Amino acid sequence: MNIIILGPPGAGKGTQARHLVETRGMVQLSTGDMLREAKTSGSEMGLRVAEVMARGELVTDEIVIGLIHEKILQGGGTGFIFDGFPRTLAQADALGELLEATGQDLDAVIELEVDDETLVKRVVNRAAEAEAAGEPVRADDNAESMRTRLMEYYKKTSPLIGYYYAKGDLSKVDGLAAIDAVQTSIESVLDKVHS
Ligand code: AMP
Repeated sequence: MNIIILGPPGAGKGTQARHLVETRGMVQLSTGDMLREAKTSGSEMGLRVAEVMARGELVTDEIVIGLIHEKILQGGGTGFIFDGFPRTLAQADALGELLEATGQDLDAVIELEVDDETLVKRVVNRAAEAEAAGEPVRADDNAESMRTRLMEYYKKTSPLIGYYYAKGDLSKVDGLAAIDAVQTSIESVLDKVHS
């Protein structure tokens, strides 16, 4: 089973994806994590996109589609969880083509619904908590970059909600509920996919 977790920055996509890795043996494909790893490893591409990411803007479709292409070819456990990808219509089309070319389907798109004020607070809190714990703080976890990330989401990513609704793949989940309640809602969506 291959699924997308869709939602604005700070909605909890990563947290929910990691849970499904544990419970279902799926493989999480987070383009944000891949890009941060590329930066840490000092690769030319990683360094090139670091500033764009710190500002909260999207990196080019070409780069992220290339990353995902590579991972899809490597295959993935009981299925892929796409986390933070696709973020544009061009990426969504490319994903459909990549899955089709490798004989796979997209089984569900889970939209985590949250309100904007809560998102900004969550992300700013995430930074404050990491700082207090002496952990590294994401370069884009500040109020200013967060506003840009939200703007990018509404301009470029939110059209995917209509796109996947029209394809019949979309399920909405209340992302403001407690983490384990969100997990339960997602599990029940996925249980229905194959029943
Ligand atoms: P995330 O960890 O998903 O919040 O992503 C962090 C940052 O990485 C984003 O704000 C973008 O700059 C970049 N990024 C991650 N995934 C994508 C994507 N699918 N398309 C374009 N940029 C991305």
